[in-house]
Amino acid sequence: MGVDFIYPEFEVIRNESRCIACRVCERQCANEVHFFSPERGIMMSDETKCVDCQRCVSLCPTRALKIIRSDCALRENANWPDSTIKEIYRQASSGGVLLSSMGTPKAYPVYWDKIVINASQVTNPSIDPLREPMETRVTLGKKPDKIRRGEDGRIVYELPPQISLSMPILFSAMSYGSLSYNAHASLARAAEELGILYNTGEGGLHEDFYCYGPNTIVQVASGRFGVHMDYLKAGSAIEIKIGQGAKPGIGGHLPGTKIVGDISRTRMIPEGTDAISPAPHHDIYSIEDLRQLVFSLKEAINYSKPIIVKVAAVHNIAAIASGIARSGADIIAIDGIRGGTGAAPTRIRDNVGIPIELALAAVDQRLREEGIRNNVSLVIGGSVRSSTDVVKAIALGADACYIATSALLALGCHLCRTCHTGKCNWGIATQNPELVKRLNPDIGSKRLVNLMTAWRHEIMELMGGMGINSIEALRGNRLMLRGVGLTEKELEILGISHAGE
Ligand code: SF4
Ligand code: SF4
Repeated sequence: MGVDFIYPEFEVIRNESRCIACRVCERQCANEVHFFSPERGIMMSDETKCVDCQRCVSLCPTRALKIIRSDCALRENANWPDSTIKEIYRQASSGGVLLSSMGTPKAYPVYWDKIVINASQVTNPSIDPLREPMETRVTLGKKPDKIRRGEDGRIVYELPPQISLSMPILFSAMSYGSLSYNAHASLARAAEELGILYNTGEGGLHEDFYCYGPNTIVQVASGRFGVHMDYLKAGSAIEIKIGQGAKPGIGGHLPGTKIVGDISRTRMIPEGTDAISPAPHHDIYSIEDLRQLVFSLKEAINYSKPIIVKVAAVHNIAAIASGIARSGADIIAIDGIRGGTGAAPTRIRDNVGIPIELALAAVDQRLREEGIRNNVSLVIGGSVRSSTDVVKAIALGADACYIATSALLALGCHLCRTCHTGKCNWGIATQNPELVKRLNPDIGSKRLVNLMTAWRHEIMELMGGMGINSIEALRGNRLMLRGVGLTEKELEILGISHAGE
């Protein structure tokens, strides 16, 4: 409604001396930025539609294209940045809630980058991971506090149900529907090959992926989409999703236009219906209610697999985690403010929640103080970008890390942050069959395996440098970490000393 005052955010620079008018960019752009002008005999661009996904730049055979951020600037105003002014124009035009995808671009402190890792020198020799055994395998689930012996005096080896991972990394929840079939196929195949797990998210499990059950976490979210007995029995663990780092306190919404064919069947809702997950689970208003759901699910699967409860990192996260640990859950997953999403209201994504590093340190500390740390494993996510982030997370107290954005980057995502439009030019966050086939699951799974293999090698090198040869010995070993440029309060919450101490 009314005049749109917004100048395009990006400019398409086409080098006319290189362009051969092959029209590859036109065919590759689902946003219809590029078109051929018969009158002028040249390629032209409608920059208002460009989202800077870089698909055209990557595939142009003559490297004729460049996308740059427009330097057309509003008058400088420290109180009114360009982005704020443009958001007001957009809302004045649409009357709607601002929607965004992927993690917040806001410059919250990334504590991973303010923490450095120790290395052995002289007295405590480092270990060469090429020559010495290095254990990166972890098991997640309740662990006994003490060695138990049976009546005959022998050690009892039986443990509550566990999941076993070849490295302390899992692919985080991303639903079929928000992601394409081929993206899910890539994640499932890679998880199987790597000996780790991927997560269905709240979209149910496509029948083609039941064969990956041992490498699957099936999620039960507030909408209960696609949840039935075969589904619950299919995975290696069940995750109850209470919250998500990118949108704590609110539900989810997949528009009816995306609920078609297999997605409608897998979610068990009619085609064209909006898939709206309510903000709360309508049967959970207390830890006792959560406990009922945890045990209902355990009962349903005959106590054979661990139950994960996933929450967003919010102000009182340590107390919340303490309650979850007492609810009977085997694993707590915590997702920080920088976590990604297929779609979220921009204001929520950018302002609600806390950084995962602080949440993790606070939760681990609290559970230790209460003597219940072994009742649960801790999995954290929300912007784990590299092997060093993983190592720092483990040393801060995590048992394993969820990754999602890093996995999508491996599949070709260029972080254009427009997943909610369904026009992902890389075939990842789309259901358009023409776009979906751009992602080849054979190549996708191979790239994920490569990424995780590389991270595992780096994790082993970092551990070796510290003189540590197993993830078990690294977990919660905060002596291996030092802060740089952090305040006393931040150091206190993280439970680490400052560099130089
Ligand atoms: S892909 Fe490159 S060479 Fe082909 S039309 Fe587009 S800009 Fe020109
Ligand atoms: S998944 Fe696709 S639409 Fe979403 S940020 Fe990545 S490239 Fe963009």
